[in-house]
Amino acid sequence: MDPNKLNHENQPEQGKLIRTRPRSAEARPQTRPRTEGWTQLTGPDGRPTLQFASPRVKQPPQHLADMTLEEREAKVVELGLPKFRAKQLSKHYFEHYTSDPAKMTDLPKDRRDDLAEAFFPPLLTEVKRLVTDDGATIKFLWRLFDGALVESVLMRYPGRITLCVSSQCGCGMNCPFCATGQAGLTRNMSTAEILDQVVQANRVIAEGGLGRAREEGNGAEAERVNNIVVMGMGEPLANYKRVMTAVHRMAADAPEGLGMSARGITVSTVGLAPAIRKLADENIPVTFALSLHAPDDQLRDELIPVNSRWKVDEVLDAARAYFDRTGRRVSIEYALIKDMNDHAWRAELLADKLNARGRGWVHVNPIPLNPTPGSVWTSSTREVTREFVDRLNAAGIPTTLRDTRGKEIDGACGQLVASEQDKADAAAFAAANNE
Ligand code: SAH
Repeated sequence: MDPNKLNHENQPEQGKLIRTRPRSAEARPQTRPRTEGWTQLTGPDGRPTLQFASPRVKQPPQHLADMTLEEREAKVVELGLPKFRAKQLSKHYFEHYTSDPAKMTDLPKDRRDDLAEAFFPPLLTEVKRLVTDDGATIKFLWRLFDGALVESVLMRYPGRITLCVSSQCGCGMNCPFCATGQAGLTRNMSTAEILDQVVQANRVIAEGGLGRAREEGNGAEAERVNNIVVMGMGEPLANYKRVMTAVHRMAADAPEGLGMSARGITVSTVGLAPAIRKLADENIPVTFALSLHAPDDQLRDELIPVNSRWKVDEVLDAARAYFDRTGRRVSIEYALIKDMNDHAWRAELLADKLNARGRGWVHVNPIPLNPTPGSVWTSSTREVTREFVDRLNAAGIPTTLRDTRGKEIDGACGQLVASEQDKADAAAFAAANNE
């Protein structure tokens, strides 16, 4: 039977009848995920390919941010200098956001250049900076040492500054609605490449690049990124070790690290259940977000290919275990896609599945899909969105609609790299044809 013809409005789940509103004029169609304008990579079994290992293994040269303070000290000693120089170098990088030897006037003049060379190989080169929301949102496109492109997005909100960082070049999770997944995984980002996104953003803020910066002094600290979401390109838990080292270093006291509050750091995953359990054992109170997007395996299998490995119930159990272990309330991310995952019965089913695992441990963040209008991937209407949110709230699940920033600058992760890649492909094509 053609699954597109099924009316999912009344689908029973696990033998249980789902509460729905009466059918009739309100019965809504079920759009099924399908790629448009690109073909999803599939394996011999016809299923979307999942890439856990990166095709490119070469990592950038070791950088100060890859090392613990002790390792930095050992390296400084190796270079024939007393170990306190490591702290000075760390301060320049993590507190003054500089890796420019000319600015390191507290270091011996004749050694500045070779110290900078040893500790600060260039990691991120700015390719493009797009500013929107009256200067409150900046999207950066960075080129890495091997030509790979990644993005980060800096957003000023009342009372906080958020940076959305990338954790991999590309992504191997192959979700059909996500721009990053389309090109597959190139490689894991190094710990220092992940951290350098924050340091570069802090430098831009300090230079006044994110609107009017608050002045330091009179008891006020200088402004900097105080909220991090690992929701840029890549699947953070597929690059577990480097991402977690970066997260620990964000939270480590300066000048070992950035001295940020772990609570202001959100790690988001598509649902690698064993890695979620490992994250719970890290003993660091980061905020954990699960990109669920569908409460039923039937749809989630198609929407989130990794669901073929770890099913909805399994990832929800792992998410609940995260709460039990850390006491940190879990966020469920849910991109609302018109007629695909936004049915009232899905809001009810989601609430049932969350309530079945206890109260007060979770909240839901629906976010309108960042769409290509007119395709099967279109964001839900305002009314449907409101009903989805209301039903969850009515069922006792705290639910807040997330705003979308930077739509007009290809705000959704991976879109900028994708369009840059298109341009590069077009240029290469034109060059090839001119020969
Ligand atoms: N791989 C991780 C983190 C990166 S994606 C994860 O899946 O959680 C960050 C968030 O953006 C995820 O919730 C992802 O599902 C969502 N996302 C991806 N493409 C989107 C789009 N076109 N519109 C809205 N959200 C999107």
